[in-house]
Amino acid sequence: MPGNLYRKKLTELLRKKDLEKARWLENINKYVLPSHVKRILRKDKSVLQELVLPKWVTWELLYDWACTQKKEEGKLCVLCDEWHEVGIEFNGKFICEYCFLRIKNLK
Ligand SMILES: [Zn+2]
Repeated sequence: MPGNLYRKKLTELLRKKDLEKARWLENINKYVLPSHVKRILRKDKSVLQELVLPKWVTWELLYDWACTQKKEEGKLCVLCDEWHEVGIEFNGKFICEYCFLRIKNLK
C-alpha cells in the first residue's frame, strides 16, 4: 500500500518527539516539486543530486511518498507495481493495459 512507509516514519518521529524531522516530512511537498515526483516515480535516482534532502530521508521513503502524490492521476497496477491511467478493474484489482495485454497474449 503506497504511503505506508511514509506514515510509519512520520508516526515514529512524532512518537520520539523528533518534531523538527516530523515537520520536514509533513512539508515534504515544499522541498520536492511535482517535476521531481514524476522522476522519482520513474525510479530516476539522478533526481537525488538535485534535491537537498536530510540524510535520514531514504530513497525508499521518498519513493513511497511520491506514490501517494500520484494517486489522483492513475491507479497502481497489482502486477507491475507502477502507476497507470489506463487499465481494467478485475475482481476489484487494477491491472494496467500493458500487463493486461501481456497476460492475454500468454493464453
Ligand atoms: Zn501493470
